[in-house]
Amino acid sequence: MRQRYTTDVLVIGTGGAGLRAAIELHDQGLQVLLVGKRPKTDAHTVLAAGGINAALATVDVDDTWAIHAADTLQEGRMLGDPRMVELLCQQAPKAIAELEAWGMPFARTSSGLIDQRYFGAHRYRRTCFVGDYTGLEIIKALIREVERRQIPILERAYISDLLHTGNRVNGAYGFWLADQREFVIESKAVILATGGHIHSYQRSSSRRRENTGDGMALGLQVGAYLADMELVQFHPSGMIFPHELAGTLVTEAVRGEGGRLYNRHGERFMQHYDPERMELSTRDRVALANYTEIIEGRGTEHGGVWLDISHIPASLIHERLPRMVEQFQAVGVDITREAMQIAPTAHYSMGGLQVDPFSHATNVAGLYAAGEVTAGVHGANRLGGNSLAEILVFGRIAGQHAGEYVRQHSEQSLHETQMQAAAERLAWASQQSGAVQRSLIDQLQQLVWHGAGVVRNEQTLEASLDQLHTLRFQAQQHSVGTADIAATLDLQSMLLTAEATILAALMRPESRGAHQRSDYPATDPLWQRTIVIKPYRDEHERLRLQLDTQLIPTASEQVQAAFNYQEYSMAGRLVE
Ligand code: FAD
Repeated sequence: MRQRYTTDVLVIGTGGAGLRAAIELHDQGLQVLLVGKRPKTDAHTVLAAGGINAALATVDVDDTWAIHAADTLQEGRMLGDPRMVELLCQQAPKAIAELEAWGMPFARTSSGLIDQRYFGAHRYRRTCFVGDYTGLEIIKALIREVERRQIPILERAYISDLLHTGNRVNGAYGFWLADQREFVIESKAVILATGGHIHSYQRSSSRRRENTGDGMALGLQVGAYLADMELVQFHPSGMIFPHELAGTLVTEAVRGEGGRLYNRHGERFMQHYDPERMELSTRDRVALANYTEIIEGRGTEHGGVWLDISHIPASLIHERLPRMVEQFQAVGVDITREAMQIAPTAHYSMGGLQVDPFSHATNVAGLYAAGEVTAGVHGANRLGGNSLAEILVFGRIAGQHAGEYVRQHSEQSLHETQMQAAAERLAWASQQSGAVQRSLIDQLQQLVWHGAGVVRNEQTLEASLDQLHTLRFQAQQHSVGTADIAATLDLQSMLLTAEATILAALMRPESRGAHQRSDYPATDPLWQRTIVIKPYRDEHERLRLQLDTQLIPTASEQVQAAFNYQEYSMAGRLVE
């Protein structure tokens, strides 16, 4: 007997975006139910370290929202949606004020204002922070507000399918991770806030069983479009040693606080890649620089480069980077005295569900999305600190518009046939060997890392696509052993979203930001456009992906006036 819940709006995901959306819906007087596959105080957002951006001008008085937007668009190599970026930068200060009112213990300047630090490629210091535990403190503040409002949360509950009547989403199906009991949730609208898909990469800054692309796959299954899937951010600094911790993030705040990069010859190599900004260059440039040093044989014994902050007073390192001190102490490295060995790691999904810039509605009625699961803000290179701003600003906006939708649409009942189909999928997953599925996940991660990694080309991408099809076939074969339903479903989502990334990467014949093609090293102004992925069913009812491109609208005059270089022309827009 499956459990049944009814609510106005179902929010899937208890990270920052989901929690913020739920608060907004509750404040509009609507019923809301939050569901997350991890404990409610431990969604992925807790890992966020260095800070959250808003042009508060508390430290650098010349900063404005328009300069913040110009930096975001230009450093995103002009692939971000200006409408979304402008909204983000205008509303980020309000999000900070809200957090402050909800008790967030921001670092302060000596005059008591919210302190702001540098993050790579920002013209001004605009990153607000709480040591290097900013994400954790955001989740604590949001959870306090959610609990004060008595918003119900289902924790450790896995959503496996969205339900819909006609072309309108009206609920979801899932199971409890503890005992595999099944449940169905009936709702008038659904918000996906399920995070990204970077766990498809062998080396990533994600934790196990998160960022498996569930929300993107759930959306595709009901006809939602994806965009920008070729644009995966590789962070320049992941741990590489010891092996079990490879990929674990070394926050950009280390470079923000003055950290320097050296190769094995003791050369501060950023002078060859971005002599003006050096270590404070953009993530894509620093990641590519680290990658190049390593590939060309100037790396460390463990295949990384050195990141050194030991020239900064130890007391400041303890105050500003306590998590990093602990993280490295645990592996016997004292970062106040010695350098860290680091290498690029897959870090963030700049692509995801395509949403309306103003409402965050998807193209499927009743389905909204917010946070890392969406595309649109970051273009080809996310600026550090913008994601935490995004989850709060667009979490609230998605909540607001899902609420408006619910007021205009009367209830629809769930279809029994759909629930039956979802139950059958779980029954199938419960008969698969978990060990086999987990081993296929490992193989998928390796092929995506090697085929669609920091530098890709037609050959590596085609080869990884072929291997992916083979893995998909193997995943469908019956295997005997103890089941692991979550791993089996994770693999399905990872296969689908990795395929989307590979296909989009094949389609973009240029290098731009995080998308580096060794066979197309130049940026092509004609490709200043968005790659959109549209799902369809073939004659066997199998889900297939079709690719298309869209032009990107022009930024407002105020933001264009704040651009600080003309590297990218508007040619892409003028051609059609
Ligand atoms: P998440 O926090 O990933 O939450 C997703 C939620 O969805 C979780 O609750 C998960 O359990 C749930 N979920 C997923 N699938 C399902 C399913 N099938 N069923 C049920 N629930 C599901 N950004 C910054 O701006 N500044 C920083 O300093 C910063 N530091 C970072 C450091 C690290 C190590 C990492 C990895 C990222 C960092 N980021 C930073 C990025 C930022 O943390 C994330 O982009 C952001 O927190 C994403 O929030 P979200 O709410 O969209 O998703």
